[in-house]
Formats: sequence, C-alpha cells, structure tokens
Amino acid sequence: MRYSQYFLPTLKETPGDAEVVSHQLMSRAGMIRKVAAGIYDYLPLGLRVIRKAENIVREEMNKAGAIEILMPAVCPADLWEQSGRWQQYGKELLRLKDRKETEFCIGPTHEEVVTEIVRGTVNSYRQLPVNLYQIQTKFRDEVRPRFGLMRGREFIMKDAYSFDATDEGANLSYEKMRKAYCRIFERCGLKYRMVEADSGAIGGSFSHEFMVLADTGEDVVISCESCEYSANIEKAVVIDKGEMSQAPMNEVERVVTKGAHSVADVSVMLELKPSQIVKTMLVIVDDEPVAVLIRGDHELNVAKVKNLLGASVVELATPEQIAKATGGPVGFSGPIGLKITLYADNAVKYMRNMGVGGNEKDIHLEGVNLERDFQVKQFADLRDAADGDTCPHCGGRYSNTRGIEVGHIFKLGTKYSESMKATFLDADGVAKEIIMGCYGIGIGRTAAAAIEQNHDENGIIWPMPLAPFQVIVTMLNPKDEEVLAAGEKLYQDLLSEGIEVLLDDRDERPGSKFKDADLLGIPLRINVGARGLKEQSFELQERRAGERVMLPIEGAAQKVAEQVRTALAAE
Ligand code: ATP
Ligand code: MG
Repeated sequence: MRYSQYFLPTLKETPGDAEVVSHQLMSRAGMIRKVAAGIYDYLPLGLRVIRKAENIVREEMNKAGAIEILMPAVCPADLWEQSGRWQQYGKELLRLKDRKETEFCIGPTHEEVVTEIVRGTVNSYRQLPVNLYQIQTKFRDEVRPRFGLMRGREFIMKDAYSFDATDEGANLSYEKMRKAYCRIFERCGLKYRMVEADSGAIGGSFSHEFMVLADTGEDVVISCESCEYSANIEKAVVIDKGEMSQAPMNEVERVVTKGAHSVADVSVMLELKPSQIVKTMLVIVDDEPVAVLIRGDHELNVAKVKNLLGASVVELATPEQIAKATGGPVGFSGPIGLKITLYADNAVKYMRNMGVGGNEKDIHLEGVNLERDFQVKQFADLRDAADGDTCPHCGGRYSNTRGIEVGHIFKLGTKYSESMKATFLDADGVAKEIIMGCYGIGIGRTAAAAIEQNHDENGIIWPMPLAPFQVIVTMLNPKDEEVLAAGEKLYQDLLSEGIEVLLDDRDERPGSKFKDADLLGIPLRINVGARGLKEQSFELQERRAGERVMLPIEGAAQKVAEQVRTALAAE
C-alpha cells in the first residue's frame, strides 16, 4: 500500500474523551473514529488489525472443530421471551419495534437464536456434538461506554456455542475451546492469564475468563503466589478462619460522629481501627432490601451476594431506599434494630466490641457485639479477596493484578435447552435436553488490549501477528530519483515475498514520517535514503528495540521477509 494513496487520517491531538492509551493511540493513528458514544467507524488501518485478529480466531476455531455461521443482528423478542431473558436482561438490551409493532432486540449475545437453530434441526444424539460460531456485530447499551473499542456499545464479537448429548461430552467441548483460546491469545502475542470467573447474567455452571494483563484493565485478577489458582475478584474464594476474640464485651455506647462520611472518618472519631468497624451495606435483591455486614477494611462483593441468594439482580440501595429501610442517612446504617434480613461476611464472625452505624444522622455505636445486640441470618464469603489473603487451595498468599477480559467461556448446562425445549433422542429413544456451552471473544477489545500491553511514549508497538502492516518502507526523500527507484524496488520485492508493506512515499520531512511510523507501530521499518544508497544499503529499525542497523541492498527483501516469518512463527 502506498501511503500517499491510502486513507490514513492521523491526528496530532488526542481526543478529549480518550482516557486510556489504546483509545488515544487508535484515534491518533487513524484506526477508528467516534460516530456516537460507544459507536465507532473502523478506518482502513483499524480494519486491517480487526481482520488479523478475526482470522487468528477463525483459524483456531476451525481447527478446534467449530463451524462458522452468521446469525442476524436483529433478533425477535419472541425467542427472548422463551428463554426468559426479555424480562431479565435490563437496559443493556436495545429493544425496538418494526412497522407492525412486533418487538425485536439487537443481539448482545446469541444463545436464543442459536438454540432455535439447533432445536429446529437436531433431533438425534447422532447429530451431536456440534459447535457453531460466528464473528458478528453485537450491541449492548452499556451504562458507561468508554475506552474506545474496549467498552463500546456496538462491538465485534466471536461467539461460539457447543451442543452435546452428555455431560462428559460437554466438558470435552469446553476443554477444546479452552485450549483454542489459549492458542488464540498466544498467537496474538499477548501476555494473558486464564482465570476462574463468575457466570453472571448468562448463567450456567462454571466459567473461565481470559485476561490480558494490563494496569489499565477494569478487572482485578487474584492469583496465588504459590499455586496455579487465579480468579476474577468477583469469584476469588476467601477463607476467613479467625480466632474468636476473648476480650470482655463492653457496653454499647452512642458516639456523635458529625459529618463522618467514610470508614476512615469513623475510625478516627471512634478511635478504632477500620478492622474493628463494620459497614452495614444496604443492597436491593430482586426488589427487596437486605443488609450485608462487611468489616471496615474489606469490600463488599455484589456477585457473591447475588450467588448466595440466587438472585437475578442485586444493586446497591439508593439514599432514598437506605432511609426507608434504616431510618437514617447514607453512611450511618447499622445492624441494631433493623427490620430487614441481615447477612454477614465470615470475617465479621470473629469481631468483638465493634463500631457500627446508629441508623441516625451523625451517630455511631461502639462496644457492639454479635448475638447479644443483633442476629445475623447467615455468614458467608461475601467480600472481595485482597492482597495478602490466603489461597484456599494451597494456603499460599494472594496477590492482585489488573486485567482486561478479552475472552469468556461458559459451561451453560441445560439453562437454554430447558427453557427453549431443545431436546434430542438418546440411543434408547428417550428425549433429553441438550447440554450447552458458550464461548466469546471481543475482537476490538483484543486489539485494544494488545495496544495497552505494547506501546511507548511515541506510539503503538504491534506484535507481528496483529500488525496492520508488517513492514513500512520510508523513503526519506522521494524526490531524489535514486531513492524513489530503490524504494519502489524494495517495495515490489517485499510484496513478491508475500509481505504486507506500507510504502511511505509522501513528500514530507523525514522527521514527521518517522513520527508517524512510530505512532502507527509497524514492527519493522526500512529507511531508504541517499546516504545509505551510496554504501549500497538501507537502514533497518525494529519498532520495539528502536536501534537502527545497516541492511545491505542485496538480498534485503529476502532477509526482512525471513525476519517477519520468524516473528510470526514465534507466536
Ligand atoms: P464485561 O464484564 O467486560 O462487560 P461481559 O462479561 O459482559 O464483559 P461477555 O458477555 O462474556 O462479556 O462477552 C464476551 C466478550 O465480549 C468479552 O470477553 C469481551 O471481550 C467482549 N465484550 C463484552 N462487552 C464488550 C463491550 N461493551 N465492548 C467491547 N467488547 C466487549
Ligand atoms: Mg458486560
């Protein structure tokens, strides 16, 4: 591709709303353009990267025995009614009506549609297993679309769905996908981790997420320093085995805590450590208020509450809901005298003489004790794991890092086949529900995650497998006929070697060409200049290492092509 004839609108300025590096660099490198919140154009350079990622995904899915199909973006509400998700999915589901007032949604995921395909075509165990996948545009009306392609509203996903006759078969299908995912992210040249995950709104029995490790990641990954255990913080198991404190119980005392807004404020005013204070968190569980007690130095884990109570929606209560349930304002809730059900995190069990809210403005209580002063319906693991907690598997130490969830695999079981009546006849002619799995990869998010992991202050540093072009040939002064001729020849030679080349033939200062090349992040750059030509050579520069080496003109294209192939094979 010739730069002068390409459509590559790079920007000098970073768009104001671009908070993370990948969003900034994708915009500046002319890869994407915002059309509306969370909705983007993929410009040519961006599209090339998307296609690279898609192709790696497609090849590995095909190798793993999955079969490509394409389902519609607009899906009939009727199918969603059958699975029950028309009611459950909430506002992320974009709903619309056609001219006949029939309801539809724009698919945020396709379990319903694919189950309908299989239900209508499979009736015998002989037709199973089958795994169908697509690479397609999804829409989720995210509350906070941000970070460019990382959390869009419209985004490209690869979604696969497996259908099996037996539980062992379903586990095998899951295992095949797990391995394919590992190969995909290795081939993309990314540092990633597979972690145990919560099954969330999609439901099902177990699931794993694939996390690209990056400080800007929205997810927290808990990993044991001594064994292989790694889990999303939503899921990471915490064991709080304490010793019951033998300290004598004090009398309950009211303390004025005027204007105290945080555990830190209360801790100063009560002269107690945060670990001696209990936060009473009000949550709304499927429309019912419930209180959850968490130690002051711990964080509530909403996903764990949701799983414990088998709820579909759990949300933190609003100030109005808190006032209604406790009689006091936000920040002053406490367990004594509450009329709603109380649950508590395990760590609370071992506390003595705790500090709690007084359910009254500017009042806290201290010297409060379990059983004597209030009762809890159930203790459970309801908090986030933290750095330094103990691994339940080996007793090792937890540490946390941040990650970007690029892929998620679920064993669904019969959740959809049951509600949508997708059955088959087994060898004995008995009708059984099909056992399903579903497996997603965010294509745009993967490309963005690659940038989060691979960049410097000058721009992107593409891993070779995702690079929009593998080589950029920069003609320092294309007006010089010798430079032009040598550059053109090198370009043609590289093309004949099957290399993807961008030829910078623009009439610009070398300095600004170098800046653009650094921004675009093409892994190998060859500078063609008059000085080098006198010595029968070009200059070769790796984007990552930065240093320039002489490249003899003789055999240059073959040598560079070899380097590209080696880099691709290494991933
Ligand atoms: P998240 O927790 O980040 O919202 P999710 O758990 O809702 O993700 P899944 O339903 O598992 O995501 O979707 C499969 C994959 O699709 C995710 O692993 C991610 O790579 C991608 N994905 C999900 N939501 C978005 C989005 N809003 N923008 C871009 N990619 C997304
Ligand atoms: Mg989501």
